Formats: sequence, structure tokens, C-alpha cells
Amino acid sequence: MENCIFCEIVKGDSPASIVFEDQICVVFMDIQPVNHGHALVIPKVHAASLSELAPDIGGYLFQAAQRTAQAIRSSSQMRCEGINLFLADGEAAGQEVFHVHLHVIPRYSGDGFGFNFSDRYWQKPSREELDASAKTIITGLVQQQDEVEAFWQAYTASLPDGVRPPGSYDVWAFGDTEEMANELGQLVRAGIKTATCSLLWEYEAEGDEDLPKAGDVSVITNGQGAPLCVIETVEVEVKAFGQVDEAFAYDEGEGVRSLAYWRSAHWKSFTRVCGSIGREPTETMPLICERFRLVFPK
Ligand code: AMP
Ligand code: ZN
Repeated sequence: MENCIFCEIVKGDSPASIVFEDQICVVFMDIQPVNHGHALVIPKVHAASLSELAPDIGGYLFQAAQRTAQAIRSSSQMRCEGINLFLADGEAAGQEVFHVHLHVIPRYSGDGFGFNFSDRYWQKPSREELDASAKTIITGLVQQQDEVEAFWQAYTASLPDGVRPPGSYDVWAFGDTEEMANELGQLVRAGIKTATCSLLWEYEAEGDEDLPKAGDVSVITNGQGAPLCVIETVEVEVKAFGQVDEAFAYDEGEGVRSLAYWRSAHWKSFTRVCGSIGREPTETMPLICERFRLVFPK
């Protein structure tokens, strides 16, 4: 992402005192520490807010923060009697840099840092009010799952009599940003896009051994997690970037559907992915090239 100070730190284009770095995250010292030792944990991939960040990367950031906190606590050089992990999501929550970051803040008694509370804070809500809040959030959690499950049920109900529905399905979105997920998801739903590819190195970096295979069935969602369509993988082939041909580029359905367009757009997105896993894009980088068919709605 251009004009993002934390993306510049990830790329090594802006100075930072780096504590730790791997394929997924970077930990570095905050330029304006609340206390000596204040560190930030960020994902390498740009995500402005939590809603744009994959939950598994969120979990990974927490693990890195936990280890960093332990290192701060056990050091004899830093004054640390406690730790605050803090994340500001959104301007109203105090977010100033719009690339998700988790603060690891060493604390000691009398350090002068703290939260301000409004008068409302001192009037504790009743149990009924707390229960009502819990119910509202539960409804939101259930809705996220329900919407996809209801979509799946609609698909299985649409199958002709005697056709057994697949036993399981994956749920995912195309691309690595909300906009790409919306744009590419619509092309798939319209039946224009019937192929996709991903970098094998990314699967390896994430330790994911579950590569796509023919027969896999997936519910494709948009960038906000709402279901768009169901697809079935029909063919999977691992090919070098330079081996991808006109026919595959056409089936990918993006832009003018030419090989030249495919190469330019995919070089850009694979360069981004390579950056986040510490590799350089090459003509021979292995791609998992997948063809699929739209099975619902048709
Ligand atoms: P937040 O209010 O959670 O968005 O906080 C942003 C944090 O990023 C602040 O604590 C800043 O001091 C810190 N920060 C901003 N720019 C840099 C930078 N170039 N290097 C390290 N920390 C930074
Ligand atoms: Zn960024």
C-alpha cells in the first residue's frame, strides 16, 4: 500500500528498530514510546482495520505480542511490572496509523499512563443490560455463520433428486483485499471467471498442506464475508508463472482477458504476496493453477 508508513517499514524503505521479523509479521520499537520498551506488532500484509485482516493473521499477531511481552518482562534492562496489549481499531478508538498494529506496552506503578473513564463508567449496568448486550453480539456472530450455511442449504436444495450434496465445503474469498474479493467474486458469480491461481510458496510459508484438489466445493464470499456463489474445483495443476498460457489467462476472466493483461496484473499481486513472505517474484515461481465451475446460483 502506497503512503503507508508501516508498509514502508515492512519493505525496508523506512527506518525502524526491528525486534523480530518472519514471513507474516514484524515487531519493532514504537517511535514515541509510552514507556521504555514499547513495541508494535504488525502484519506484513496491509490491512487498514481489523475487518480487513484475516482472523488467523490476527491470532498470529497476538502470539508474537505474547512472546515479545515475555521478553520485555524477563529483561533486567527495562522497567516492567506489567504489560498492556492495546489495539486501536478506527479513528474513534484512537487509531492514527491505518495499518493494523498491536501495541506491547511495559507498565510499572506510577508510570503516569492510564485510561480515562466517563461518569457512566461508575454506574454499573444491571445483569439484564449485560445480557441484552451479549444477545446483540451473539446475533451478529450467528448471522455471520448462518448466512453462509443458509446459502449452502439453498444450494443443496437446488440439486436434482437423487444427487447427493457434497459432504463438506470451504468458505473463502478471492484476492487479498476487500475490493478484490468483491470484484473477482462478482466475475465468478457471473460465470465469467472460471480459473484462478495462487502462489505455492504462500501455502508453504503458512504451513498449509491442504492444497486445492479436483472435487473441492467452496462457498465464495465477498469482502465482507457474505456468500456470493458455490464453485466446484475441476482441475488443479502446478505451473511456473512463465508457463501460463492465453487460454488460462482468458478463463481467469479479468480485464481484457489477454495473456499480457494477466501477466501484468498477476506480477503485481504476486510481488505483493512475495514481499509478505520474504521472497522475490520470478518467471519460474510455482503457481497452483485451478479451474472451477460455477454450481450455484446458475
Ligand atoms: P495508534 O494510535 O494505535 O494508531 O498508534 C500509532 C503508533 O505508531 C503510535 O504509538 C506512534 O508513535 C507509532 N508510530 C508512528 N509512526 C511510526 C514509525 N515510523 N515507527 C515506529 N512507530 C511509529
Ligand atoms: Zn500498510
